Amino acid sequence: MTDPRIYDIAIIGGGMAGLTAAIYAARANKSVILFERKVYGGQILTSMKVSNYPGEPGISGYELMKSVYEQAKKYDVVFVDENVISIKDVAVKELETEDETFYARTIIIATGTKDRELDIPGEKEFLGHGLSYCATCDGAFHMDKPVAVVGGGNTALYDALYLSDIASKVYLIHRRDEFRGDAHLVEKLREKKNVEFVMESHPNKFLGDKKISGIEVINTAGKKRTLDVDGVFVAIGRVPATEQFKDIVKLDKDGYIVAGEDCHTSAEGIFVAGDCRTKTLRQLVTASSDGAMAATEAVHYLK
Ligand code: NAP
Repeated sequence: MTDPRIYDIAIIGGGMAGLTAAIYAARANKSVILFERKVYGGQILTSMKVSNYPGEPGISGYELMKSVYEQAKKYDVVFVDENVISIKDVAVKELETEDETFYARTIIIATGTKDRELDIPGEKEFLGHGLSYCATCDGAFHMDKPVAVVGGGNTALYDALYLSDIASKVYLIHRRDEFRGDAHLVEKLREKKNVEFVMESHPNKFLGDKKISGIEVINTAGKKRTLDVDGVFVAIGRVPATEQFKDIVKLDKDGYIVAGEDCHTSAEGIFVAGDCRTKTLRQLVTASSDGAMAATEAVHYLK
C-alpha cells in the first residue's frame, strides 16, 4: 500500500529532536509526517530523573517526553509507527518502510543513537531472553537472582548500583583495570557487598538454552571464567542510528551525519537534528534546539 500524498516535511525519529521539529514544522503550516520505529520519546525515556532541562528540575524522562509528545499530537502531524529503511532522493524524496512508500519534499533525520552491541555469539538470540540494554526497564525480571553488567562508563556504574538493590549479586565486567565513569560511583559500588568487579575482562559468549544461564568472560591474560547469571545488561555506550542513510548523506568516520549548526546535510533538502548529527554536546536541550533549527531550515528550503 502506498500513501500518494506528498508531504512538505518528513521527520524520521520521534525523540526530542524529531518531536520538536514536528511542532515547529506544523506551526509553520506545513504538512508533516513523522516516523518512529519503537517508542515515542527516545533515549531519555529510561532516565529516572532529568535535572538539566530548564524549567523542569527533577522531572522523569518519561513524564517530560509524554508532555512533548502530547504537545506534538495537538498539531496536524501524521504519526507512522514504522521504520524508514531507505530514502531515495529523486524528483520528490521517497521514504520506504517495510510495508509502504511515502513521499516528501524535505526530510529531517532525527534517528538519534542506539545501544552499541558487544558483537559476540548469542547476542541476537538472547535479546529479551535474559539479555538487555536497559537496567531500569528489565532489572525487575531478575529479583534476587545474579546478574552481570558489562561496561565501565557512568551508564554501567549507575546500572550496577540500581541492580544491586534488586539482584542477589551483580558482576560488573569491564575491559580495563580502571573505570571510565565517575570515581564517586565506583566508591559507592565498592561499599555494596553483593557487587563484584570483574576487571580486565571481556565477554566471550553467552551461555544458556533459550534463556541466559551464564556468561563466559576472558581476561587480558587469556584466562576464561564462567559467571552463572540470570541476566546480562550491556552498557558499553551508544552509536549513531544512521546506517540506512549512508548512501544518501555524508557520515563521519563514526557514523554521525555531517552537518553544522544549521542542520543542513550534504544532500539538498535533507536535514539532520539531534544526537545523530556531528556535534560536541549531545543533550536534550541541543536535540530540541536542532529540531527547531532543522524544521525552520526545511521551511525556508520549501520557499
Ligand atoms: P561511555 O562513557 O562511552 O562508556 C562506555 C564504556 O563501555 C567504556 O567504559 C568502554 O570501555 C566500554 N566499552 C566500549 N566499547 C566496548 C566493547 N566493545 N566491549 C567492552 N566494553 C566496551 O558510555 P556511557 O556509560 O553510556 O555514557 C555516555 C555518556 O553519558 C557519558 O558522557 C556519561 O558520563 C554520560 N552519562 C551520565 C550519567 C549521569 O551523570 N547521570 C549517566 C549515564 C551516562 P573503555 O573505558 O575501555 O573505553
